[in-house]
Amino acid sequence: MLIEMLNYRIACYLYLVKYEFMNIIITGASKGIGFAIANAFAAAGHNLYLTSKTPADLSSAAASLQKTYPNVKVDFVHADLSIQAQVHCFSEWVLARTTPDVLVNNAGYFLPGQLQDEVDGQLEAQLNANLLSAYHLTRDLLPTMIKAKQGHIFNICSIASLQPYPNGGSYSISKYALHGFTQNLREELKPTGIKVTGVYPGAVLTDSWGNFDNSSGRIMETDDVAKMVLQAAQLSPQACVEQIVLRPRLGDL
Ligand code: NAP
Repeated sequence: MLIEMLNYRIACYLYLVKYEFMNIIITGASKGIGFAIANAFAAAGHNLYLTSKTPADLSSAAASLQKTYPNVKVDFVHADLSIQAQVHCFSEWVLARTTPDVLVNNAGYFLPGQLQDEVDGQLEAQLNANLLSAYHLTRDLLPTMIKAKQGHIFNICSIASLQPYPNGGSYSISKYALHGFTQNLREELKPTGIKVTGVYPGAVLTDSWGNFDNSSGRIMETDDVAKMVLQAAQLSPQACVEQIVLRPRLGDL
């Protein structure tokens, strides 16, 4: 009787630990939207497994998160996710440490250009960083997540995934493709217990906007995206937010 009660208490404890403290994998976490998402999950008490390309930026971002949230685990390793072999190294690193509860495919960058005159190789570069990084990482982590019968994948797409705009060029093609990947993944994973959410922000103030003067608050803040992602990750197991579309209040630029 005593042993049964103990087993029951241990099972309850494990259930609480599992659902109160999630393991969050975030790519492109050193700055911008990825850093804000990391900050939001850490503030809610979840453990972080972070990556991005430049080692010094990543380690200083991780150190600042660890200092602010000493009670959560902040682990990190750098990788250039536009290179498939480095994606696989990162996946192995993750799976050696944890079972992912949440995967945020955020790494990516914007190269402006017109299809008619952008440089040769621009499409390949944008597809590697913005689409294939997410595709390969997701496929590497999926078997473990499917075995766990739960999890949540967020793909940070863009308004450029939904409509063309001047100078969108290959960036927009790569983001349309990420949207297609997201929709197919959502359909495919419905019976597995894994949720898939596409996130479609318009302009958000980050380094990719260079010296843009946002003193009038024309474009959004990284926290706007992070708050929505965290909320979507906190719903009941039976609810899935399929798309988060966010625009500046005054509309696109
Ligand atoms: P950001 O501030 O420049 O941050 C981008 C992050 O991605 C950095 O941590 C960067 O690391 C990482 N990254 C880029 N290429 C990588 C690679 N090959 N391998 C590993 N990490 C890589 O940009 P952001 O504006 O926050 O953008 C984040 C995501 O949101 C992107 O996918 C972007 O397309 C999307 N988005 C942004 C906006 C916007 O207006 N800001 C709007 C819609 C969608 P390094 O600095 O070390 O390269």
